Amino acid sequence: MKIGIIGGGQLGMMMAESAKKLGHSIYSLDPSIDCPITRVSDKHIAANFSDTKAIKKLIEISDVVTYEFENINLDYIQNNEKKIPQGLYALKVSQNRLLEKNTVKNLGVETPLFSVYNSSKTLPIPSIIKSISGGYDGKNQYKIFNNNDIDQLEIDDSMGYIVEEYINFDYEISVILTRDKFGEIGYYPIPINKHKNGILFTSVVNNTISPEIIEKAQKISKIIIDNLNYIGTMAVEFFVKGNQVLFNEFAPRPHNSGHYSIEACNVSQFKNHILAITGHHIIKPILTNNAIMLNILGQNELYIENAAGIKYAYTHLYGKKEYRTDRKIGHITIVSEDNLSILNEIVKE
Ligand code: ADP
Ligand code: MG
Repeated sequence: MKIGIIGGGQLGMMMAESAKKLGHSIYSLDPSIDCPITRVSDKHIAANFSDTKAIKKLIEISDVVTYEFENINLDYIQNNEKKIPQGLYALKVSQNRLLEKNTVKNLGVETPLFSVYNSSKTLPIPSIIKSISGGYDGKNQYKIFNNNDIDQLEIDDSMGYIVEEYINFDYEISVILTRDKFGEIGYYPIPINKHKNGILFTSVVNNTISPEIIEKAQKISKIIIDNLNYIGTMAVEFFVKGNQVLFNEFAPRPHNSGHYSIEACNVSQFKNHILAITGHHIIKPILTNNAIMLNILGQNELYIENAAGIKYAYTHLYGKKEYRTDRKIGHITIVSEDNLSILNEIVKE
């Protein structure tokens, strides 16, 4: 089939790599002429995401269209739902944190307490302020731990925000799951995710999460994905505290915390995504090895050197032209009996 991909970053690139192995052709669209996906795609349309004509053309020439990120103007893809299996509803909900939290709450899912931010209202302590739209990797978020944080708060009032209860969680997890058009769902083994400055640092999959927590998280994820009538791979992020599994957010696309599946599962999150959006049955994911995925940010070039030559460390570099601070340039998946000591070896300064 001819698959159109909106967004040419690493997620688009890894989707394209899986799709090519399955014999598909890739048409990509991204403003940059040398973004990661161009290393893989058959035809690249260099156009802004606001270029209606270009998006229309991509949809026209493709049999099926997928996207790697949430901030696509819905007006441009309206009426093309048939060619976009992930659907517009999931996209619409995920674009707006308030709508997202309310939608999920209305499904009976527990979330941290939240409300619309209003500069004249007293802020709860501890809390976290998040922009309603346009946030990723912890951007446009402000932690409020004391009155000093409130005094120093400088936020752009032209944007809408929510205030959320700050959860002193035990750990964070994400459920990566793929749903096909037959309604079947495949759940990936759940990674435990550690963040640094709001950016994913590592995802660890090592069978230490209790069956009760896994069951709760999968059950909630199923409710959400079924309700969104979503086809493809998505991720649902949670905070775990004691027996509580609190919904944080979902991403209607393959997710950074699912990259480990490339080496550590029988089927990657990208391959299942492509199988689902091209109308096939998905493959039930099975973990073949415990794994740790480590992100490489622009300032972490040293990790690449440190990992080179380590037998069980699989380095993926995305071919980004610039190594920018706090931007992901690649990741390393470690698949060994000895994951932790190899991780320590790689991150040592
Ligand atoms: P993004 O869209 O940037 O990923 P998230 O809401 O997932 O936004 O926030 C990024 C990270 O910030 C989370 O993965 C978590 O580590 C931390 N965080 C977000 N909300 C809370 C909260 N209510 N309590 C504690 N930590 C939080
Ligand atoms: Mg997040």
